[in-house]
Amino acid sequence: MAAMDGFEGELKELREVFKSGKTREASWRRAQLQGILSLFKERESDILKALNQDLGKHHVEAYRDEIGTVIKSANYALGNLKKWMASKSAKLPLASFPASAKLVQEPLGVVLIISAWNFPFGLSFEPIIGAIAAGNAVILKPSELSPTCSSVLANTIRDYLDNSAIKVVEGGSDVGENLLRHKFDKIFFTGGPRVGEIVMTAAAKFLTPVTLELGGKCPAVVDFISSSWDKKIAVKRIIWGKYGACGGQACIAIDYILTHKKIAPTLVELLQKYIKKSFGDNPMESHSIAKIVNKRHFSRLKQLLEEPGVKSSIVYGGKSDEQNLFIEPTILLDPPLDSLIMTEEIFGPLLPIITLEKIEDSVEFIRARPNPLAVYGFTTNQNLQKKMIAETSSGAITFNDAIIQYVADTLPFGGVGGSGFGRYHGKYSFESFSHEKAVMRRGYLIDFGFRYPPWNNKKLQL
Ligand code: NAD
Repeated sequence: MAAMDGFEGELKELREVFKSGKTREASWRRAQLQGILSLFKERESDILKALNQDLGKHHVEAYRDEIGTVIKSANYALGNLKKWMASKSAKLPLASFPASAKLVQEPLGVVLIISAWNFPFGLSFEPIIGAIAAGNAVILKPSELSPTCSSVLANTIRDYLDNSAIKVVEGGSDVGENLLRHKFDKIFFTGGPRVGEIVMTAAAKFLTPVTLELGGKCPAVVDFISSSWDKKIAVKRIIWGKYGACGGQACIAIDYILTHKKIAPTLVELLQKYIKKSFGDNPMESHSIAKIVNKRHFSRLKQLLEEPGVKSSIVYGGKSDEQNLFIEPTILLDPPLDSLIMTEEIFGPLLPIITLEKIEDSVEFIRARPNPLAVYGFTTNQNLQKKMIAETSSGAITFNDAIIQYVADTLPFGGVGGSGFGRYHGKYSFESFSHEKAVMRRGYLIDFGFRYPPWNNKKLQL
C-alpha cells in the first residue's frame, strides 16, 4: 500500500481519465501533439530565457537542441500516428485454419516520466510525445537542478495540454521517491545509474516495466585522416561533439578520444586552433558554451583536474571561473587510466586524449570498459569501421560525426548494459509506451479431434 503523500488525488484522476477511454481516441492524441506545437511556438521566448538562466545555453544552441528537435518529433508523430496506431495482420500456421490474427496496439495506462536537467525540455517532451501518441495518461517529474525550466515546463504543460491526463510534479529526489511508492504502468527514466537502480528497485515491487536512459563514457576513436579538408571537418565535429551541446554535459557527448601516438600532436594542434576559432581567446565571453549546472558539479569537475598526474596532463585550457560556473574547453593528453577522469563519466568540457600504439587497440580499450551510450569513429577505414561495429557494444555507433544520431527519428535511441535499456524516438517512442496485443479469431467450420483427450492408442497411431 503506497504512503499518503499528496499524489493520491492526482493519480486517481489520471486512472479514471485513462479508464474513460479519452486518451485512446486518435483525436485526443492529435490535439495533444498539436498542443505541444502551439506551446513551443507561443512560449519560445520563455523556454529560451529559462535555458539561458539555468544552463547558460546560447539561444541558437537552445533552439536547436530543445525547441527544433521537439517540434520535429511532434510533427513526425503527427504524420505517422495513423500508421502506428493501425493494427497489423499476422500470418498463422495452416493447422489453425480457419483463423485470422492481428496485432493491436494498446496504451499501457498511467506512465511516469522522470527527466534530467541537461536538456530539460528535450528529455521531457521526447518521451511525452511517445506516451501521448500511444494513448497514455502521463505524470512528468522534471529535474530540480534546472528549476526555471522545471517551472516553465509545469506552467506551459498546464496551459497547453489536457491537464486531466497530463500532469507535472515538480521537486527533487524526495518527490521522486514519493512518486515511486505508487504503482505506474510504465516508468521512463533519464538520469544516472545510481538513481536508475532506485527506480528499477521501486518498479520491481509492482512489476512495472521501465526504460532506463542512462549515461557513461562515450569514446571517439580518431584515426589517421589523409585529406586536410576531411581533417578540418572531423576536428570541428569533435569540438562540437564535446563542447557544443550543454558544454559537454550531455549523455552522448564525446567523453574521451582514443588515437594513434603519431597522430596526437597534430590532433592537439588542430583542436586548439579550432577551439580558438569557435570560442575565441576568452571562451566565457563567447557565450557559446553552456555553464556548469551548479556549484557541486563545478567542484566535481575541478576535482577531476586536481588528481595526481591529471593536472600535469593538461595541454590546453584548464582555467575556470567559480562565480560564473564556467570551465573553459580543456584538453588533456594521456592522463592516468586509473584516474577519476578516465573511470567516471566526465559530463563537462574536459577532453582527455589517450594515445595508442595501434589504432585497432581502441577496440580492446572500449571492450574492457562498460558499454557506452555511443561510440564514435572518425575514420574512413572500412576495416576499422567493421571491426568497431562487430567487436564493441554500445547504444549507437556513429562514424565521422558525433551526437547527430540523436535527431534521426528512424533510429532507436537508448543504451545497452551500463548505459541503460529500452529505446525511444520516432516509432520506437510509440512502441516504448504501447503493448502490442495478440488478437486471434477462430471459426467453427473445421475441427480436429486428435487435439482432445482421451490419449488412446488410436490417436498415438495418427
Ligand atoms: P540524476 O540521476 O541525478 O537525476 C535524474 C532525475 O531523477 C531527476 O529528475 C532527479 O530529481 C530524479 N531523482 C534523483 N534522485 C531520485 C530518487 N531517489 N528517486 C526518484 N527520482 C530521483 O541524473 P542527472 O544529474 O539529472 O543527469 C545526469 C545523468 O543523466 C548522467 O549520468 C547522464 O549521462 C544521464 N543522462 C542520460 C541521458 C540519456 O538520454 N540516456 C540524457 C541525459 C542525461
